[in-house]
Amino acid sequence: MNHQEILENIPLYVAGELSPSEQAEMDTHLKNCESCRMELEEFRKMEGMLEQLRLPDPPDELWDGYWSGIYNRMERKLGWILFSFGAIVLLFFGFSRLVEGVLSDPTVPPLIKWGILCVGGGLAILLVSVIREQLFYRKNERYREVQR
Ligand SMILES: [Zn+2]
Repeated sequence: MNHQEILENIPLYVAGELSPSEQAEMDTHLKNCESCRMELEEFRKMEGMLEQLRLPDPPDELWDGYWSGIYNRMERKLGWILFSFGAIVLLFFGFSRLVEGVLSDPTVPPLIKWGILCVGGGLAILLVSVIREQLFYRKNERYREVQR
């Protein structure tokens, strides 16, 4: 092998994929050729860096946790949507019961009735979002205590 071939074979040499006679030839050349020795050194350094960059495959348990995490989040989100919707409907129903007298009064103009309904709907939504926020924060606090 000439100098150029030795250089090209350095990756195979490092990987130990050369035949014993080729290996011996490389050893002899490397002993006598400084530039090839430096090349070998560089290659080993670079390979070491690549080795560090390579991310290990995540263990299966991690993936299981990841997927169940996504599933829990979706489930919780759906739960919140149903809860919010139901709570808003119930609150709105209760509110309209309260103002039934006003709503059925023919002397009250329709615009005012709509205004009352909008206030009721808005209140119901705000109330539910406040409840949700409270529950969310309390849940997080509990979680933090558990972690400590
Ligand atoms: Zn050389």
